[in-house]
Amino acid sequence: MKETFARYGIKLSDDKIEKLKYFGEIIKEYNCKINLTSVVDDREVLIKHFLDSAIGEKFFPIGANCCEVGSGGGFPSLPLKIVREDLRFTLIEATGKKCEYLKYAVKELSLDNVLVVCGRAEELGKDKNYREKFDAVTARAVAKMNVLCEYCAPFIKVNGKFIAYKGEAAEELKEAENAVKTLGLTIESVNCFDLPDGMGKRNIIVMEKIKNTPAAYPRGNGKERKKPL
Ligand code: SAM
Repeated sequence: MKETFARYGIKLSDDKIEKLKYFGEIIKEYNCKINLTSVVDDREVLIKHFLDSAIGEKFFPIGANCCEVGSGGGFPSLPLKIVREDLRFTLIEATGKKCEYLKYAVKELSLDNVLVVCGRAEELGKDKNYREKFDAVTARAVAKMNVLCEYCAPFIKVNGKFIAYKGEAAEELKEAENAVKTLGLTIESVNCFDLPDGMGKRNIIVMEKIKNTPAAYPRGNGKERKKPL
């Protein structure tokens, strides 16, 4: 594991390796109870979930207060937190059973400063306790870029970052041009990585929030998905 991560510039101490291994066991245990992931082979979990999540660590500012939208199994947030102990995380997840699993994983892994919030991004994004409160917001496999921007932008502070994990990026970014502008974002960089053993390509899109998101967004009532900006 150490060598695989080191090839991507990520240093793992023995303690962090133990945590990732234990996280793998927790996922297996819980996957029998609820559908967390179709990836079950140990090497695939290591690469497609752990390495894939950790690969974006360098884009998160030191000590950042981060939010993840649509955590599911805890990707990319929990591997990021294991690799970068300085980050704080609020995990937003709509499904109650997944929230229970996330709370269990956070406790078992003794992760400090990780809060699990059960709810929908389009509702919490209007809540003053969460709106424009985060230095960085991230998400993987939740929605297309134009929808995702409306879910995530409301949580980001002005000058904060949006770090989106995507497979294909070019077409989604083109479709999201209007959403990016309307919500106060600007694209900073698109970073492409090849996962080892031909396990796919990952694009990490980094945006900066350059002005406040207008109060009308997120629109709610499913409009984000039904009528993307
Ligand atoms: N991010 C994880 C990953 O990459 O493995 C989970 C991806 S899973 C396909 C999408 C997750 O996002 C689900 O757990 C779903 O419940 C959650 N989700 C989808 N829309 C959401 C919303 N509007 N607010 C909060 N959670 C949402």
